[in-house]
Amino acid sequence: LLEVDSVAKSYGALDVLTAVHLSVPAGQALGIVGPNGAGKSTLLSVINGTERASAGTVRFAGRDVTAVGADARARAGMGRTFQIPRPFTHLTVFENALAGATAGAGLHGRAADDRALEALVLADMLDVANTPAGALPLLGRKRLELARALATDPQLLLLDEIAGGLTEAECDSLVETIRTLHASGVTIIWIEHVVRALLAVVERLVCLASGVIVADGEPDAVMRSDEVQAVYLGGGL
Ligand code: ATP
Ligand code: MG
Repeated sequence: LLEVDSVAKSYGALDVLTAVHLSVPAGQALGIVGPNGAGKSTLLSVINGTERASAGTVRFAGRDVTAVGADARARAGMGRTFQIPRPFTHLTVFENALAGATAGAGLHGRAADDRALEALVLADMLDVANTPAGALPLLGRKRLELARALATDPQLLLLDEIAGGLTEAECDSLVETIRTLHASGVTIIWIEHVVRALLAVVERLVCLASGVIVADGEPDAVMRSDEVQAVYLGGGL
Protein backbone atom coordinates (compact mmCIF):
# COMPACT_ATOMS: atom_id res chain seq x y z
CA LEU A 1 0.00 0.00 0.00
CA LEU A 2 2.81 2.42 0.97
CA GLU A 3 6.34 2.54 -0.42
CA VAL A 4 8.80 5.00 1.10
CA ASP A 5 11.96 4.88 -0.99
CA SER A 6 15.29 6.56 -0.10
CA VAL A 7 13.50 9.39 1.65
CA ALA A 8 15.58 12.16 3.17
CA LYS A 9 14.41 15.31 4.92
CA SER A 10 16.54 18.25 5.98
CA TYR A 11 15.66 21.52 7.65
CA GLY A 12 18.48 23.77 6.51
CA ALA A 13 21.69 22.13 7.70
CA LEU A 14 19.81 19.69 9.97
CA ASP A 15 19.44 16.25 8.37
CA VAL A 16 16.40 14.75 10.12
CA LEU A 17 15.88 11.72 7.86
CA THR A 18 18.48 9.98 5.69
CA ALA A 19 17.66 7.27 3.15
CA VAL A 20 14.57 5.82 4.82
CA HIS A 21 13.09 2.78 3.08
CA LEU A 22 9.76 1.46 4.27
CA SER A 23 7.30 -0.78 2.48
CA VAL A 24 3.95 -1.37 4.18
CA PRO A 25 1.50 -3.88 2.72
CA ALA A 26 -2.25 -3.25 2.91
CA GLY A 27 -3.73 -4.39 6.21
CA GLN A 28 -0.52 -4.33 8.23
CA ALA A 29 -0.19 -2.64 11.62
CA LEU A 30 3.33 -1.25 11.92
CA GLY A 31 4.75 0.34 15.07
CA ILE A 32 7.57 2.87 15.14
CA VAL A 33 9.71 3.48 18.22
CA GLY A 34 12.80 5.60 18.63
CA PRO A 35 14.31 8.31 20.83
CA ASN A 36 13.03 11.89 21.04
CA GLY A 37 14.17 13.81 17.99
CA ALA A 38 14.81 10.64 15.95
CA GLY A 39 12.63 11.97 13.13
CA LYS A 40 9.51 9.84 13.76
CA SER A 41 6.95 12.64 13.46
CA THR A 42 8.86 14.06 10.50
CA LEU A 43 8.60 10.67 8.77
CA LEU A 44 4.80 10.70 9.27
CA SER A 45 4.72 14.25 7.88
CA VAL A 46 6.64 13.22 4.78
CA ILE A 47 4.28 10.24 4.36
CA ASN A 48 1.06 12.27 4.65
CA GLY A 49 2.39 15.30 2.80
CA THR A 50 2.44 17.80 5.68
CA GLU A 51 6.14 18.09 4.77
CA ARG A 52 7.82 17.44 1.43
CA ALA A 53 10.73 15.01 1.25
CA SER A 54 14.09 16.62 0.39
CA ALA A 55 14.92 13.49 -1.61
CA GLY A 56 13.38 10.13 -2.40
CA THR A 57 9.84 9.08 -3.28
CA VAL A 58 6.60 8.21 -1.52
CA ARG A 59 4.16 5.92 -3.33
CA PHE A 60 0.66 5.29 -2.03
CA ALA A 61 -1.90 2.88 -3.50
CA GLY A 62 0.21 2.47 -6.62
CA ARG A 63 0.63 6.18 -7.24
CA ASP A 64 3.66 8.46 -6.82
CA VAL A 65 2.45 11.05 -4.29
CA THR A 66 5.86 12.62 -3.57
CA ALA A 67 4.78 15.98 -5.01
CA VAL A 68 1.14 15.73 -3.86
CA GLY A 69 -0.04 17.92 -0.97
CA ALA A 70 -1.48 16.76 2.36
CA ASP A 71 -5.11 17.57 1.47
CA ALA A 72 -4.98 15.50 -1.71
CA ARG A 73 -3.27 12.64 0.13
CA ALA A 74 -6.05 12.77 2.76
CA ARG A 75 -8.66 12.49 0.02
CA ALA A 76 -6.64 9.63 -1.51
CA GLY A 77 -6.99 7.69 1.75
CA MET A 78 -4.46 8.80 4.36
CA GLY A 79 -5.62 9.86 7.81
CA ARG A 80 -3.30 11.24 10.46
CA THR A 81 -3.39 12.17 14.13
CA PHE A 82 -1.02 14.78 15.46
CA GLN A 83 1.21 14.46 18.52
CA ILE A 84 -0.30 17.67 19.92
CA PRO A 85 -4.09 17.58 19.37
CA ARG A 86 -5.55 20.90 18.26
CA PRO A 87 -9.32 20.44 18.23
CA PHE A 88 -11.63 23.41 17.63
CA THR A 89 -12.33 23.81 21.36
CA HIS A 90 -15.57 25.84 20.98
CA LEU A 91 -17.09 23.34 18.55
CA THR A 92 -18.72 20.11 19.67
CA VAL A 93 -17.14 16.72 19.15
CA PHE A 94 -19.51 16.11 16.23
CA GLU A 95 -18.67 19.46 14.64
CA ASN A 96 -14.96 18.67 14.92
CA ALA A 97 -15.47 15.32 13.19
CA LEU A 98 -17.60 17.08 10.58
CA ALA A 99 -14.68 19.43 9.86
CA GLY A 100 -12.60 16.34 9.10
CA ALA A 101 -15.27 15.06 6.73
CA THR A 102 -15.72 18.38 4.91
CA ALA A 103 -12.28 20.04 4.91
CA GLY A 104 -10.42 16.73 5.04
CA ALA A 105 -12.43 14.41 2.82
CA GLY A 106 -14.17 17.07 0.70
CA LEU A 107 -17.67 15.82 1.55
CA HIS A 108 -20.77 18.01 1.86
CA GLY A 109 -24.25 17.88 3.34
CA ARG A 110 -25.73 14.54 4.30
CA ALA A 111 -22.68 12.55 3.16
CA ALA A 112 -20.44 14.63 5.45
CA ASP A 113 -22.85 14.21 8.40
CA ASP A 114 -22.97 10.45 7.87
CA ARG A 115 -19.20 10.19 7.62
CA ALA A 116 -18.67 12.28 10.78
CA LEU A 117 -21.12 10.08 12.71
CA GLU A 118 -19.40 6.96 11.44
CA ALA A 119 -16.04 8.34 12.61
CA LEU A 120 -17.50 9.01 16.07
CA VAL A 121 -18.79 5.43 16.24
CA LEU A 122 -15.39 4.02 15.23
CA ALA A 123 -13.62 6.24 17.76
CA ASP A 124 -16.12 5.28 20.51
CA MET A 125 -17.33 8.85 21.04
CA LEU A 126 -20.96 8.84 20.03
CA ASP A 127 -21.97 9.37 23.68
CA VAL A 128 -20.10 12.71 23.80
CA ALA A 129 -21.04 13.90 20.28
CA ASN A 130 -22.57 17.13 21.60
CA THR A 131 -19.87 17.91 24.18
CA PRO A 132 -17.70 20.96 23.40
CA ALA A 133 -14.24 19.65 22.46
CA GLY A 134 -12.66 22.01 25.00
CA ALA A 135 -14.48 20.22 27.83
CA LEU A 136 -13.08 16.78 27.01
CA PRO A 137 -10.67 14.99 29.35
CA LEU A 138 -7.36 13.78 27.85
CA LEU A 139 -8.72 10.40 26.69
CA GLY A 140 -11.59 12.21 24.96
CA ARG A 141 -9.15 14.58 23.22
CA LYS A 142 -7.13 11.56 22.04
CA ARG A 143 -10.28 9.87 20.76
CA LEU A 144 -11.35 13.08 19.02
CA GLU A 145 -7.96 13.26 17.30
CA LEU A 146 -8.62 9.70 16.13
CA ALA A 147 -12.19 10.56 15.02
CA ARG A 148 -10.95 13.53 12.98
CA ALA A 149 -8.47 11.27 11.19
CA LEU A 150 -11.17 8.62 10.65
CA ALA A 151 -13.55 11.20 9.19
CA THR A 152 -11.60 10.95 5.93
CA ASP A 153 -12.34 7.18 5.87
CA PRO A 154 -8.63 6.34 5.58
CA GLN A 155 -7.12 3.21 4.11
CA LEU A 156 -3.90 4.17 5.90
CA LEU A 157 -4.10 5.55 9.43
CA LEU A 158 -1.03 7.34 10.82
CA LEU A 159 -0.99 7.67 14.61
CA ASP A 160 1.50 9.92 16.42
CA GLU A 161 1.83 9.10 20.14
CA ILE A 162 -1.86 8.75 20.76
CA ALA A 163 -1.43 6.73 23.99
CA GLY A 164 0.88 9.10 25.87
CA GLY A 165 -0.21 10.53 29.23
CA LEU A 166 -3.14 8.16 29.77
CA THR A 167 -3.74 5.94 32.79
CA GLU A 168 -3.30 2.22 32.21
CA ALA A 169 -7.07 1.63 32.02
CA GLU A 170 -7.55 4.55 29.60
CA CYS A 171 -4.68 3.31 27.50
CA ASP A 172 -6.19 -0.19 27.39
CA SER A 173 -9.52 1.18 26.20
CA LEU A 174 -7.82 3.18 23.44
CA VAL A 175 -5.78 0.12 22.44
CA GLU A 176 -9.04 -1.83 22.11
CA THR A 177 -10.40 0.81 19.73
CA ILE A 178 -7.25 0.71 17.60
CA ARG A 179 -7.26 -3.11 17.57
CA THR A 180 -10.83 -3.03 16.26
CA LEU A 181 -9.84 -0.60 13.51
CA HIS A 182 -6.95 -2.85 12.55
CA ALA A 183 -9.21 -5.92 12.55
CA SER A 184 -11.55 -4.11 10.16
CA GLY A 185 -8.69 -3.91 7.66
CA VAL A 186 -7.29 -0.40 8.15
CA THR A 187 -3.53 -0.23 7.57
CA ILE A 188 -1.87 1.44 10.55
CA ILE A 189 1.48 3.12 11.17
CA TRP A 190 1.71 3.99 14.85
CA ILE A 191 4.49 5.97 16.52
CA GLU A 192 4.44 5.35 20.25
CA HIS A 193 6.64 5.69 23.33
CA VAL A 194 4.17 3.55 25.32
CA VAL A 195 5.63 0.31 23.97
CA ARG A 196 3.21 -1.90 25.91
CA ALA A 197 0.26 -0.35 24.03
CA LEU A 198 2.05 -0.70 20.71
CA LEU A 199 2.93 -4.35 21.23
CA ALA A 200 -0.73 -5.17 21.94
CA VAL A 201 -1.61 -4.21 18.35
CA VAL A 202 1.26 -4.22 15.87
CA GLU A 203 2.64 -7.22 14.02
CA ARG A 204 5.76 -5.41 12.86
CA LEU A 205 8.03 -2.93 14.60
CA VAL A 206 10.55 -0.43 13.25
CA CYS A 207 13.09 1.48 15.32
CA LEU A 208 14.15 4.86 13.98
CA ALA A 209 17.26 6.48 15.46
CA SER A 210 18.93 9.65 14.16
CA GLY A 211 16.85 9.59 11.01
CA VAL A 212 17.73 6.01 10.05
CA ILE A 213 15.82 2.74 10.45
CA VAL A 214 18.08 0.64 12.69
CA ALA A 215 15.75 -2.34 13.20
CA ASP A 216 12.68 -3.68 11.39
CA GLY A 217 10.81 -6.93 11.95
CA GLU A 218 8.82 -9.03 14.39
CA PRO A 219 8.09 -6.79 17.42
CA ASP A 220 9.58 -8.91 20.22
CA ALA A 221 12.69 -9.67 18.17
CA VAL A 222 13.11 -5.97 17.37
CA MET A 223 12.72 -5.00 21.06
CA ARG A 224 15.42 -7.56 21.98
CA SER A 225 17.76 -6.61 19.13
CA ASP A 226 21.19 -5.15 19.86
CA GLU A 227 20.26 -2.04 17.89
CA VAL A 228 17.20 -1.28 20.03
CA GLN A 229 18.95 -2.28 23.26
CA ALA A 230 21.69 0.23 22.39
CA VAL A 231 19.04 2.92 21.96
CA TYR A 232 17.50 1.93 25.34
CA LEU A 233 20.85 2.01 27.10
CA GLY A 234 21.39 5.48 25.69
CA GLY A 235 18.21 6.45 27.56
CA GLY A 236 16.46 7.00 24.28
CA LEU A 237 13.15 5.26 24.63
P1 ATP B 1 9.60 12.94 19.63
O1 ATP B 1 9.68 11.53 20.09
O2 ATP B 1 10.13 13.89 20.64
O3 ATP B 1 8.23 13.33 19.14
P2 ATP B 1 10.45 12.67 16.86
O4 ATP B 1 11.19 11.43 16.61
O5 ATP B 1 9.03 12.73 16.48
O6 ATP B 1 10.62 13.08 18.39
P3 ATP B 1 10.75 14.90 15.07
O7 ATP B 1 9.66 15.72 15.63
O8 ATP B 1 10.53 14.24 13.78
O9 ATP B 1 11.26 13.83 16.11
O10 ATP B 1 12.01 15.87 14.97
C1 ATP B 1 13.26 15.42 14.49
C2 ATP B 1 14.24 16.60 14.49
O11 ATP B 1 13.81 17.55 13.51
C3 ATP B 1 14.32 17.35 15.80
O12 ATP B 1 15.66 17.72 16.00
C4 ATP B 1 13.46 18.56 15.56
O13 ATP B 1 13.89 19.64 16.33
C5 ATP B 1 13.67 18.83 14.08
N1 ATP B 1 12.52 19.46 13.43
C6 ATP B 1 11.27 18.95 13.34
N2 ATP B 1 10.46 19.77 12.66
C7 ATP B 1 11.21 20.84 12.31
C8 ATP B 1 10.95 22.06 11.58
N3 ATP B 1 9.74 22.33 11.08
N4 ATP B 1 11.97 22.92 11.43
C9 ATP B 1 13.20 22.65 11.93
N5 ATP B 1 13.52 21.54 12.61
C10 ATP B 1 12.54 20.65 12.81
MG1 MG C 1 7.31 13.07 17.44
